[in-house]
Amino acid sequence: MSDFDVCVIGSGAGGGAVAWRLAMAGRRVLVLEKGPWLREGDFFKDELACCRRSVYTPDLRHERHVIEEADGEGWQATSTHESGLDFWNGNVVGGSSNFMSGFFHRLKPVDFRLRSEFGPIPGANVVDWPITYDDLEPYYAEVERVVGISGRVVAHPFLEPRSTPDFPYPPTLEHPVSAWIDAACARLGYRALPLPRAILSQPRGTRRACEYSGYCGSYGCASGAKGSARAALLDEAVATGRCEVRPRSQVFRLVSDARGRVVAAEYFDRDDRLRRARAHVFVVACQAIESARLLLSSPGPRHPRGLGNRYGQVGRNLIFSAGGVSHGRLEFGALDPERAAQARVVGPFLNRTLHDWYVIDDSRLGRVKGGVLDFLMGHPNVISRALAERRDDDGQLVWGRAFKRRLESAIRGGRRIDCEAFADWLPTDDCFVRLDGEVKDKWGRPVARVRVGAHPHDLKVGRYLAERGARVLEALGARDVVIGVSDSPPQNLVAGGCRFGRDPRRSVLDPDCRVHGADNLFVADGGFMPTGGSVPYTWTLYANALRVGDRIAAQL
Ligand SMILES: Cc1cc2nc3c(=O)[nH]c(=O)nc-3n(C[C@H](O)[C@H](O)[C@H](O)COP(=O)(O)OP(=O)(O)OC[C@H]3O[C@@H](n4cnc5c(N)ncnc54)[C@H](O)[C@@H]3O)c2cc1C
Ligand code: SF4
Repeated sequence: MSDFDVCVIGSGAGGGAVAWRLAMAGRRVLVLEKGPWLREGDFFKDELACCRRSVYTPDLRHERHVIEEADGEGWQATSTHESGLDFWNGNVVGGSSNFMSGFFHRLKPVDFRLRSEFGPIPGANVVDWPITYDDLEPYYAEVERVVGISGRVVAHPFLEPRSTPDFPYPPTLEHPVSAWIDAACARLGYRALPLPRAILSQPRGTRRACEYSGYCGSYGCASGAKGSARAALLDEAVATGRCEVRPRSQVFRLVSDARGRVVAAEYFDRDDRLRRARAHVFVVACQAIESARLLLSSPGPRHPRGLGNRYGQVGRNLIFSAGGVSHGRLEFGALDPERAAQARVVGPFLNRTLHDWYVIDDSRLGRVKGGVLDFLMGHPNVISRALAERRDDDGQLVWGRAFKRRLESAIRGGRRIDCEAFADWLPTDDCFVRLDGEVKDKWGRPVARVRVGAHPHDLKVGRYLAERGARVLEALGARDVVIGVSDSPPQNLVAGGCRFGRDPRRSVLDPDCRVHGADNLFVADGGFMPTGGSVPYTWTLYANALRVGDRIAAQL
């Protein structure tokens, strides 16, 4: 007899939303989370601790990843402990959603039928989704209300169909430079739109409205305004009395029976004791890489190669978010005093996005899927800004007075303004997760080995978008505008590896995100996504996890 109807592993955007839905529906839910449970009062704005010493992620000496990158001849594998890269994103109750910037976009109908709309791309495993935008729309609308999304709907050719006329919360406060972007875009013939944010502009229940701390992305939120899975969903789920969250519980294996059904989750508790949790249904939501690792680490009588891995699909078609960046500087000395004072304002958000090139139809690229541009003021983290000044144009280290002068000019003489481009990271056979044959974590379990190959098409689209972003920055008066497009994956936007589909030979999950061959096991983080859309996709993770919660409730 199980104490719980459902055991959810991982408490981030995916896990938190499933747990919330089922607890609200009267189900008994256990959430096992490897990290600690921090509350609003535990979050602080300390760049050294939060961004340089990674207090919210594991020590890489004990828990690392092995990353395979192309080196021109083959694949070069380096452990993250050696490289300094870090593929952990937030291992606390609520997961990475505690640290996101909350730039929220829906996917658009075209994202659900990429293969039909644009045809095959050689070297890419592009498929249509087994569900449509209409299946997800009610859940997108629910996320707006429940998680709390602030914004304003403005009609434009790529606006997604909506069941509600506008957002439930008005936009967050806007930075004075937002008006400069509007004017620059109007001159260029582009449409600058308000950028929706998973940040409360007004209080909701016990959560306060945004306090415009200035340090948002990469930092936990002390007001509760940020729509993290913890603040927006898990606190409410726990308050029902039906949801128990066990922090510092690291699940390392799912045990399955002769029928292929999962019967227990084995985990190490806060004292490293081995424990077992039982439930009728299990949900894996450890973020894409770790979810694939857990399934691969869980062979059973009916799943000898790992859960759901009969056809070797688990871990394949991992995706990130492709795109590029353009950035420039607003030099205070080059602006008139009024504009210089505006550029200095700290706190409010730029909140502007451009969707003009969601589909690109261009003589150079043809008709291809494009993406979005999101604007933001450069992150205020002062150590990173100082580090960016340590080398001159020739790459030489700068010392002493010369270095001080550079710091003075960079930090007090102007501000960086960024335009981030988001586009599809095409799924390929060169981007996947498997278990490493040698490297183990501190509990002796194989770590995830991740190959991170990108498709050349992604770079072309990323450059196209970043060039448009650069035009806007130049038009609004930014100096030293540069473009950066790279095939390195952004570690914080990762999905796929357990794609959903109708054919068990080509997918891991069925359209309800149930693992093929294990009918009481679901995956509810971004792992299900066969393609990622041209946006940061956490809104879609939340929406899909609510949908999966409904399917589980129906099954129970
Ligand atoms: C700095 C930053 C900025 C971001 N900005 C944005 C943004 O502006 N817009 C946007 O859409 N997205 C943004 N994101 C991405 C967003 O946070 C993620 O897409 C989202 O949180 C992913 O949800 P998830 O459920 O897949 O994983 P997570 O939210 O990371 O949750 C996974 C959880 O599983 C736990 N876990 C892992 N392994 C185990 C195990 N074996 N046992 C138990 N628990 C385990 C982890 O500790 C973690 O808490 C940002 C992320 C970061 C880090
Ligand atoms: S108070 Fe506002 S700006 Fe500060 S972390 Fe929370 S959501 Fe971000």
